[in-house]
Amino acid sequence: MIKSFNVKTRSRTEFVNITRDVQDIVSDSGVKSGVCHVFVPHTTAGVTINEGADPSVEKDILTMLNKLIPRSGGYLHMEGNSDAHIKTSLVGSSEVIIVDGGTLQLGTWQAIFFCEFDGARSRQVMVKVMREE
Ligand code: ZN
Repeated sequence: MIKSFNVKTRSRTEFVNITRDVQDIVSDSGVKSGVCHVFVPHTTAGVTINEGADPSVEKDILTMLNKLIPRSGGYLHMEGNSDAHIKTSLVGSSEVIIVDGGTLQLGTWQAIFFCEFDGARSRQVMVKVMREE
């Protein structure tokens, strides 16, 4: 069973905390012990796990990604969004989180972030929860 939900982003580059949405799907699945796969089916948006407590951390990550990979940099790709493709490959398109006791086993400070690199637009996140055999 695969569940998905939409994320509406508001900026060209933005992190959206989706931890609650993913945990809700895990809770609804009834799976107590297993793994949760989070997959973003886009080439200019990804997903990462990092600190959710201090919003400065996600801002610092975005600021540095934008500095390292500028929007225009003599890229070949005609669409004009090569920076977004490169950032997406760096953060990746999926995460796997261990589920125990029906809860995502994230560390105290960890959160799951949808990473928008070519917004603003409506995006999809897919989640598959697998029960331990
Ligand atoms: Zn493109």
